[in-house]
Amino acid sequence: MKLEKYSFGLGDRFAHQGRAQLAAIIKANEQGANVTPVWNKSNREHGITGTEPVSVRAEADAAVAALGWKGTYYVDADHIGLKIVEPFIEPSDFFTLDVADFIGQAASAEDIAAFVDRYSKYLGTVDIDGAAGGFDVTRQMLEGIAVKYLLAVKEAGRVYRHVESVKGKDSFITEVSMDETDEPQRPVEMFFILTAIADEGIPIQTIALKFSGRFNKGVDYVGDVGQFTKEFEQDLAVIRFAIGEFGLCENLKLSVHSGSDKFAIYASLNKAIKKFDTGLHVKTAGTTWLEELIGLALAGDEGLGIAKRVYAEALSRCDELCGPYVRVIDIDKGKLPSADEVAGWSGDEYAAALRHDRSCEKYNLHFRQLLHVGYRIAAEMGTEFTDAVDKYESIVGQCVTENIYERHIKPVFMD
Ligand SMILES: [Zn+2]
Repeated sequence: MKLEKYSFGLGDRFAHQGRAQLAAIIKANEQGANVTPVWNKSNREHGITGTEPVSVRAEADAAVAALGWKGTYYVDADHIGLKIVEPFIEPSDFFTLDVADFIGQAASAEDIAAFVDRYSKYLGTVDIDGAAGGFDVTRQMLEGIAVKYLLAVKEAGRVYRHVESVKGKDSFITEVSMDETDEPQRPVEMFFILTAIADEGIPIQTIALKFSGRFNKGVDYVGDVGQFTKEFEQDLAVIRFAIGEFGLCENLKLSVHSGSDKFAIYASLNKAIKKFDTGLHVKTAGTTWLEELIGLALAGDEGLGIAKRVYAEALSRCDELCGPYVRVIDIDKGKLPSADEVAGWSGDEYAAALRHDRSCEKYNLHFRQLLHVGYRIAAEMGTEFTDAVDKYESIVGQCVTENIYERHIKPVFMD
């Protein structure tokens, strides 16, 4: 099973927008951009929304059948590890092996020594075409990388082999993710991470790194775009080199997590993947649910009422809701409108504050981030929320499709 060159990860907290999401993918394909849809939902999201992994498969299959999609599509067990993988195995055919928690835990001294021995042939300068002169490797550096990452890669091998033992070889796509950690991985670190992955026999097709800068949920990139662009291109050069050097899958590509809304770097991503003629997987961050809220607000009446109640409740439970996401959001509470203020807003005003349109002066990224993590409130509303989403399906669906196609797929993948 081989993942296509361009793929897009779709998250859908309440599993009601599969068709609207797929409509955006279909539109892209009609316009000549061959983008493959991948539906993903993490264990954390399943916990908060009270759903099971099998529901994502059901949603994807139903959307594909309803819209007559003839292309390939996948269901991604997002951020799984050995402890939680079981219910994901049957319905998924894409596995994101998250080993970030193992970074920094050292493997055995023998394993580290063997790794350093085996790869001491790279001591000195490694010349990599397209990586601005390559990089220098010292023994101390190689040992440091082995200490930091070898155990994590071995853990990825354990998870991979477990999934393979149940599903069989070549019957799923494998991603390895190290993005949910504090420090970014530099290109030289990725080089040795990839060789360790090859040693484990993991047929990796996508790798999720932590890049420099902040990738907060649902809002724009914060950081030095020039520096990011340079690193990203170095990563692409290293991957191209590592494929030949270590015999990795020839379609191995980067996976950008929390990739939705990172408008500041989209032009760089687009240019870089074309320059290197390589693929890209962009995983979004559950922002489809915000489009549901925007649609409800625009619908007015009962829809707007629900959108306002979600905010009022989210504001009163701000700390609780932000807890699980504290590393990936930056909310300035002083910039959050009061519940009373929002209660007086029109649907257009609510939508303008929430919609990620950087040119709109009413856009409020603090309001947006709080609502982003506020899906627990909507989950607690149960069918009251999902019935409203169904009732206003046409306007909600339009918001979902437009957001994915116009603001994401177009700038990342298209000319
Ligand atoms: Zn991630």
